[in-house]
Amino acid sequence: MTDETAAPTTFRDLGLGEDVLAALDTLGYEEPTPIQTAAIPVLLAGRDVVGRAATGTGKTAAFVLPLVERIEPGTPGVKALILCPTRELAVQVAEATHRYALRKGLRVLAVYGGQDIERQLMPLRRGVDVVVGTPGRILDHIRRRSLDLSHITNVVLDEADEMLDMGFQDDIEAILESTPKERQTALFSATFPPRIAQLAERHLTNPERITVRAPVLETPKVRQVAYVVPRPYKMEALSRILDLEAPTSAILFCRTRHEVDELTEALSVRGYRPEALHGGLNQGQRDRVMKRFREGTADLLIATDVAARGIDVEHVSHVINYDIPQTPEAYVHRIGRTGRAGREGTAITLVQPRERQLLRGIERIIGAPVEHGRVPTIADLRARRLELLRAAIHETLEEGEYGAFRDAVRVLAEQYDPLEIAAAAAKLASDATRGEEPEDGKDIPEWDPTRERPERDSRGPRGHTDRSERPSAPRRGRSDQTMTRLYVGVGRRRGVRAGDLVGAITGEAKIPGDAIGAIEIADQFSLVEVREDLADLVIQRLGGASVKGRPVSVRRSHD
Ligand code: AMP
Repeated sequence: MTDETAAPTTFRDLGLGEDVLAALDTLGYEEPTPIQTAAIPVLLAGRDVVGRAATGTGKTAAFVLPLVERIEPGTPGVKALILCPTRELAVQVAEATHRYALRKGLRVLAVYGGQDIERQLMPLRRGVDVVVGTPGRILDHIRRRSLDLSHITNVVLDEADEMLDMGFQDDIEAILESTPKERQTALFSATFPPRIAQLAERHLTNPERITVRAPVLETPKVRQVAYVVPRPYKMEALSRILDLEAPTSAILFCRTRHEVDELTEALSVRGYRPEALHGGLNQGQRDRVMKRFREGTADLLIATDVAARGIDVEHVSHVINYDIPQTPEAYVHRIGRTGRAGREGTAITLVQPRERQLLRGIERIIGAPVEHGRVPTIADLRARRLELLRAAIHETLEEGEYGAFRDAVRVLAEQYDPLEIAAAAAKLASDATRGEEPEDGKDIPEWDPTRERPERDSRGPRGHTDRSERPSAPRRGRSDQTMTRLYVGVGRRRGVRAGDLVGAITGEAKIPGDAIGAIEIADQFSLVEVREDLADLVIQRLGGASVKGRPVSVRRSHD
């Protein structure tokens, strides 16, 4: 694959200035996407652009970054107008523009139907640099003379095909007619029916046409499954999928450094053993992360595309695209990290409903449909637990080391049917893992593909912790000392019991047993209360020491 050897293009190479570069760095973007690489220099040079790009390719930054670069804050009037088909997209594009333009201090306003028009008048009167809106509402403002277009230098038509499908053609034409002729215009569209070509022909001047073509690609023979999940439910869906798939070793991909950090944190709170790998780490840190992953101290590697480039790991059972990659090439590249040397591998992709077009692009390039999975329901997880319980009982029966319990069962068997006794025992064993069960009534809604647009992501819940994992405020222990809760990265699945933890802590950290408070053991981790004044000592001495023959990570438990 060429991108492992060719020097990658950076945002700086594209000609963006320091303010914008700093904003991108803050957002954790590591390199431009193909549509950005192709469109940004052309737009910076002042040319009109017709870009073919679907949602998820990074097209918003492709047209917003040059616009932010070219507009001077503090100059009079609205300078840029971005037209979007829906209110959700308008809000999203306005938010993105605001983020990219933060350092430059541009004022951005979203205007859309459905919102009280009076509320949009005040900011317009105070002065706005960029207006993002739906065509109908923008036209209303033009007609009411609350939006003066005489200073417009830039117009963007985003998702032009959707705007035409929604019947906005006349509104768009009227708006374009009201703006100065010497403006720069960019049109982005996922598809190019003749009506789009005619619109571009009428209103753009000698535009550069940009389509990011994908080369023919060979996909490795791995099972490929995609789950359509609205963004607020992605974390929950992922942890269910992980529970069901039980990967032995997986690489998870995110788009930005920040998403890598967030996902790593969220997964470690949930008891997994993740390691983050991204461009913010120095070589020494990267080497240590890779060592832990290769040795199996970490079972999940969370990475950006850039960071994962060039790493070579055997035995990756799963590649998980927590964010769908922005190009089919990146997809093929990512999933090539599993199924190596003829081994079996699974590639899982979480797709937001609005990103389904990207998935279709991937399917076109790889020449095969990707299997659509259904996110495991609570019932599925219960069934899976029963399956695991059955397997564990089977194993115990095979091993035959339960003689001590036979007498107890024999007594019960005089009164009850052995089948009933065994079922009751299984229930007891299953109840012991209850703390790990998802709460009732919180199932992830099935995505209805007939619904045009999902609720926007940005308003989804941000927290990732389950109630059972929420930290407690410092509280008083028995000896009236303040207690603090520590996360210990080993749990029931490794056969840990409270006694093991007390033994390890008192043995390694040499602290008295009564400095340890409540202990909760979950499947993959444990929470142990210790006296606050001894917490650092415990973290230092127990971290890296082994519990049940495994090195464990220890840290304060926090949200
Ligand atoms: P879009 O195609 O504009 O809807 O963008 C899809 C997502 O990709 C958004 O969440 C952006 O924040 C993100 N994004 C855009 N460009 C980059 C980049 N160069 N690196 C990482 N993430 C990006």
